[in-house]
Amino acid sequence: MNEHPDDHQLDDDLATAAALISAAGQVALACHIAPDGDALGSMLALHHVLRGAGRRSVAAFAGPQVTGPHYRELPGLELLADPLDYPAEPEVMVTFDCGSLERLGDLAMNAKAAKELLVVDHHLSNTRFGSIHLVDPTAAASAVVVARLIDALGLPLNHDAAVCLYAGLVCDTGRFQYENTSTEAFALARRLLEFDVPVARLNRVLFEEHRLAYLRLVGAVLSRAEMVAEKSFIWAAITEADLAEHDVTLEETEGVIDFLRQAKEAEVSCVLKEVDGHLRVSLRSIGHVDVSSVAALFGGGGHRFAAGFTTTEPVTRVVETITQAL
Ligand code: AMP
Ligand code: MN
Ligand code: MN
Repeated sequence: MNEHPDDHQLDDDLATAAALISAAGQVALACHIAPDGDALGSMLALHHVLRGAGRRSVAAFAGPQVTGPHYRELPGLELLADPLDYPAEPEVMVTFDCGSLERLGDLAMNAKAAKELLVVDHHLSNTRFGSIHLVDPTAAASAVVVARLIDALGLPLNHDAAVCLYAGLVCDTGRFQYENTSTEAFALARRLLEFDVPVARLNRVLFEEHRLAYLRLVGAVLSRAEMVAEKSFIWAAITEADLAEHDVTLEETEGVIDFLRQAKEAEVSCVLKEVDGHLRVSLRSIGHVDVSSVAALFGGGGHRFAAGFTTTEPVTRVVETITQAL
């Protein structure tokens, strides 16, 4: 049902995207660097559907070829291509959960050279860098938009695609608890469960199962968290020394921000991770503050309630700037 005038445009674009994908000899899929559950799940879901229909499809992301251990049960990780083997000038390329060209890392070059570039996303800040844009900021996850695209293609879902879409959905809605949780999100979840998605198992692996070493790192990081009371702001840094001391990988620390955001005293929370001489910063809001606009101050982006950026500025300066912006 169309509720917004833009929906007609989106429906048209879905049909155009489906026609382009259907006509392509090979479809090249890519998600953002350092992919999260929605990026991986969205991309792999379309990969599974296309492969299931006997279509040629290649899927990849740029940067270090590592994914968090909590994503290990997403079907299809083993199907991901090396970016070096990715088509240099794709006939049709589709990007997932990627708000800007830069977030594709080295695959941005391939995207620029693509004959058609379909952008599947739900970031309000999406820079519309493609030739066709399936961007719906009201969608709870990119996975929701992918499900619409699969329907527009007229191709059947399958078990592996359903698991991947479900992972994207639960990761971006905080297991159906954030503000973006909608009737469409629940309707999609219901539909996906028809394919025997292992809900409890996925929940355990994605969110609740950690090595004791990781829990000890969380303890150390939380014990150092700093509260800026007058701004309802809490922050903590994870240094490379922390990772080495606890034998924990960077990818493993994705959920640390979810501990910090539980602080009753804070409306905005922030985790700053030291990576190879720069900082990877995560921001969360539980109230009025739009953290995507804070991330934008540093050239990053995201959503109202979850945003991020990378910077070469030192921790103290970053914290100072954020504090002033609040
Ligand atoms: P994260 O804190 O890494 O889970 O990211 C939260 C959200 O912020 C993501 O869903 C992205 O939309 C966005 N985001 C994170 N890092 C960046 C970045 N470097 N540039 C633009 N957007 C980002
Ligand atoms: Mn993402
Ligand atoms: Mn997303």
